[in-house]
Amino acid sequence: MGELRASDLAAVRDQLGREPTTTFSVVARCGGPAPHPLVIRNHPLDAGGRPFPTRYWLTCPDAVRAVARLESDGWIRRLSERAEEESDGFGAALEEAHRAYAADRADEVPEAGGWGGVGGTRRGVKCLHAHYAHHLAGGDDPVGAWVAGRVEPLHPEGRRVAAVDLGTNSIRLLVAEEMQTGLAELARDMVITRIGQDVDRTGRIDPRALARTLSVLERYGRRARALHATSMRVSATSAVRDASNRAELEEGVRRHTGSELRVIPGEREAELSFLGATAGLEPPGPVAVLDIGGGSTELAVGTGRPDGAISTRMGSVRLTERHVRHDPPTAEERASLARAVDEALDEVERALAPGRAAILVAVAGTATTVQALALGLSRYDPEAIHRSTLALADAERVLEDLAGMTVAQRASLPVMAPGREDVIVAGATILVGVMRRFGFAEALVSESDILDGLAVELLAEGPVSPAEGSPPPDIR
Ligand SMILES: [Zn+2]
Repeated sequence: MGELRASDLAAVRDQLGREPTTTFSVVARCGGPAPHPLVIRNHPLDAGGRPFPTRYWLTCPDAVRAVARLESDGWIRRLSERAEEESDGFGAALEEAHRAYAADRADEVPEAGGWGGVGGTRRGVKCLHAHYAHHLAGGDDPVGAWVAGRVEPLHPEGRRVAAVDLGTNSIRLLVAEEMQTGLAELARDMVITRIGQDVDRTGRIDPRALARTLSVLERYGRRARALHATSMRVSATSAVRDASNRAELEEGVRRHTGSELRVIPGEREAELSFLGATAGLEPPGPVAVLDIGGGSTELAVGTGRPDGAISTRMGSVRLTERHVRHDPPTAEERASLARAVDEALDEVERALAPGRAAILVAVAGTATTVQALALGLSRYDPEAIHRSTLALADAERVLEDLAGMTVAQRASLPVMAPGREDVIVAGATILVGVMRRFGFAEALVSESDILDGLAVELLAEGPVSPAEGSPPPDIR
């Protein structure tokens, strides 16, 4: 499940003082000069296939100690009693937190929904650490929020912002702290919700895709507030730009994040990707940044900042919907995919002449997944991928492999994010098409992209509207 950096595995091993017994991903970090994992999300089954009910686990030793002090002061019993009284909605909110926690676990392993709520219990309070971890991960948890009010800040904190990128295929979150040397990442997440599904055909956002997206956004909003982001920006691209029922999405964004949805034009999207992808990079000449999305693909070229940018209506979801009917795609379908890419690149060539760039930087899920496969990674490790070099020959080989597999076979690849398996052939066709057409024998693959660009821009704007949130409940 999820992604894991080798350095996080080492850090968590250190924090726990033992080998972790589940696979996990880091959902929240402490900032400051020595960032470290704060909360991990465990797989519902441990390495031996046994139930592991604690979904969110607090790992920062300072946090663990601070919460342990509350427990030894008798707060588990006092909060349980408070929940039993149910006079102020606290008990009902706690029950709802237990229910949501079980449902969240069941998203990954369906039968795990029956293993109880926070800390594996159905009622009351069993472990304050588990509740606090749930709160920091974006859970709506009255006990976790109460703990936060007692123990935070755990460390000195700089200014924090949150950026959400709502793409055709996925919804992504970055919570970052301002550092003298750039950004410190406090949370980075991605869920594929396919908000752009069928928009190309119907002109509307599918109601189920909208519901999936808003439910992720709600959690993202809570996680950003729990991590003390003081401003939050939600930026939507391609698919949403074209949808007739955008108002419902805009209302949801307002409700869950306290900020207005910004639907940005493709060229702006390309500039932000450029900003994020090239931050801290010292290239030998002009850089071309390629951002392959679900509904559109952006390219920007420049030195230091983009001097040209273009957005094309060519994306992995859009091309798949238009050209692929069989599983795996037939030779004819693959040829028509390649033709569609080639036609779109004619326009890119005229507008931008990307071949003049000294290096190509490829960002976003298609490129990073192709590189994970080219590198033969057994799990998705962003650290291994970030700013690594992908040779054209390797990209071509991975494309051929993927195109020969069924969707189910692609889904079973350990580095494949759920929801990407059916569109990655189209995405990889775009990647290979761009490299071939503009003469790039290799690409630098980057994990920083438009999200980082949005965060950099937010920090540069200075403090603006504070993210809204309910204060921790007042319990004596
Ligand atoms: Zn810490």
